[in-house]
Amino acid sequence: MGQVADNLAAVQQRIEVASVRAGRAPGSVRLLPVSKTHGPEKIREAYDAGMRIFGENRVQEAAQKAELFADVPDLRWAVIGHLQTNKAKDVATFAEEFHALDSLRLAEALDRRLHQQARSLDVFVQVNSSDEPQKFGVAVENAVDFAVALRPYQNLRVRGLMTLAIFSDDAEAVAGCFRRMLEVQERLRQTDTAAGSYDELSMGMSGDFELAIAYGATTVRVGEAIFGSRLRPQDYWPG
Ligand SMILES: *Cc1c(COP(=O)(O)O)cnc(C)c1O
Repeated sequence: MGQVADNLAAVQQRIEVASVRAGRAPGSVRLLPVSKTHGPEKIREAYDAGMRIFGENRVQEAAQKAELFADVPDLRWAVIGHLQTNKAKDVATFAEEFHALDSLRLAEALDRRLHQQARSLDVFVQVNSSDEPQKFGVAVENAVDFAVALRPYQNLRVRGLMTLAIFSDDAEAVAGCFRRMLEVQERLRQTDTAAGSYDELSMGMSGDFELAIAYGATTVRVGEAIFGSRLRPQDYWPG
């Protein structure tokens, strides 16, 4: 096995252990490998190891990779990073999932483009669970209103919520972010005018995915633990 396949197996093993420890059903947590900044060879290796969907946080990079792998029909793409409204068209063209929905203007632009292409898109509402001003995402207290306002956009299939927890060595601070996500999810489940379903929680990365699983993550987005370290230390936010 190559390095990527080895790493994948190790991460999958850690996911299973964390799931069992949290009393979660086996297989209830999905691994979304995040291939941003890494080249096609590593993606191919992960594909050969069974991965079929990859996360990218920059639209241009994702579109180029989608083009490169266009002849592989069962390879799909999730855009997981902040998106400017003027790039909605690109995402509507090739992405299967979008994890960073945080404005109605963007929802409207995506919906219009999807309609034109007769496509739909799985979306996750990004919530700023750490309440840091520099972070993207809907404020915790606005999440329910936002979800209700998404109702008209028929081409968006709202699957759940996404967050990036605070970057911190303080596990209690990180857990606080995940706990807030559970609370938002609970409120949304009690709001029958909210668009879509809220069964999915996309949260947890290389540094905190086991903790996220303990708090109900259904999709963990893992990059460095699979593909190795990236050159730029700070590339969780596009642009
Ligand atoms: C890069 C990135 C990840 C993965 O982070 P790692 O630390 O490499 O596991 C997850 N989510 C988003 C939005 C990212 O940009």
